[in-house]
Amino acid sequence: MLKNIFGKSNKTNAKKKHNNEDGGNNNQQTQHTPTLTATQLKGMTLNKGNITEALDPLEEFLITSDMGLDATTQAVEQLRADTLTGNINNMMHFVEELNTNLLHMLKLPANTATTATTATTATTATTATTASRGNDNGEFSLLQKDAQPSVVMLVGVNGVGKTTSIAKLAHHYKNVLGKKVLIAAGDTYRAAAVDQLQHWGDTVGVEVISQQQGADSAAVMYDALSRGVATDVDLLLCDTSGRLQGNDNLMRELEKSARVLKKLSENAPHEVLLVIDATLGSNSILQAKVFSDYIAPTGIILTKADAHLQPGSLFQIVQGLGLPIRFVSYGEGVDQLSAFQPYAFVGDFVSGYLHTFSKTHGGAFGDVSAHSS
Ligand code: GDP
Repeated sequence: MLKNIFGKSNKTNAKKKHNNEDGGNNNQQTQHTPTLTATQLKGMTLNKGNITEALDPLEEFLITSDMGLDATTQAVEQLRADTLTGNINNMMHFVEELNTNLLHMLKLPANTATTATTATTATTATTATTASRGNDNGEFSLLQKDAQPSVVMLVGVNGVGKTTSIAKLAHHYKNVLGKKVLIAAGDTYRAAAVDQLQHWGDTVGVEVISQQQGADSAAVMYDALSRGVATDVDLLLCDTSGRLQGNDNLMRELEKSARVLKKLSENAPHEVLLVIDATLGSNSILQAKVFSDYIAPTGIILTKADAHLQPGSLFQIVQGLGLPIRFVSYGEGVDQLSAFQPYAFVGDFVSGYLHTFSKTHGGAFGDVSAHSS
């Protein structure tokens, strides 16, 4: 299941030039072997007499995929309630509703989620879930139409992968999409941070605007944005110091940077991406939540997804932070970053449940229908 979160390294993308932001990386859409047909699922009546036969394997699947107790309870109880009120009356409805609920939990707009699930008219269960993959297109969508440049700040605690993610975004926009990119070395706190960023800038061929250690981070960003405006840069990526919980001064520096950027560009920063290390668990969610007190993040970059990561933990992260996942980083290579494709991810996740379910009920739906009353 893990491979469906981020896709494989797509080296060929680096050689292609695109005029839009589509990196063409759709390889998150891995297929599960079909087990149950939609016709079979539709024929399987669900009601209060047999709902536990659908819910018990779901609960087991969600818990073992590390969705956590709160999110699991939310998902299971919603489906139970919908079955008891008669909104769900067969297994196909159940799967569609599960799909919709999971998309909502990933903070997708309600209207797209609805459109996605009403498209589930396919003939096999697997196709049903793949058909609900909505508008996934693998696009890196950071460029604003009316901004030159679009300004993106990356924030997060030390070591989560901010610098590496900046390098990956810079590489994608410059070398894959052919855009003009600039980097602001806003982490003036750590001595090695500027060198590290400069090294990445040289590697991907993007200019890095920096000052000496201890300089005002907001001033570095202001300089970089001035230069970006003057030289028609498309995308300005701003590094920031790795914040630690309780370090109020460093946190206030973020507020100041955002304020100073607005002097040159009213809506800057256009995006603030919160970088989360997928391997750190719930503690990292608590740490990251503090950022929202100082600056309004617009989305998540989930790093280190190549390490051991259970897919259910993505729901915990999104629920915990109240932000959508925008990008997934899955290695140290400069091209190992994908736009997160929630429809593919949820489709595969639901297929995973259907596999668990069919282990119990495979080929014997009558067993469940027989409980109907
Ligand atoms: P920063 O302190 O937030 O700027 O973090 P860095 O970008 O310096 O990354 C910290 C460490 O994590 C470095 O050794 C990176 O190579 C590594 N790293 C970053 N992203 C990933 C990833 O997606 N997968 C793996 N395995 N390592 C990563």
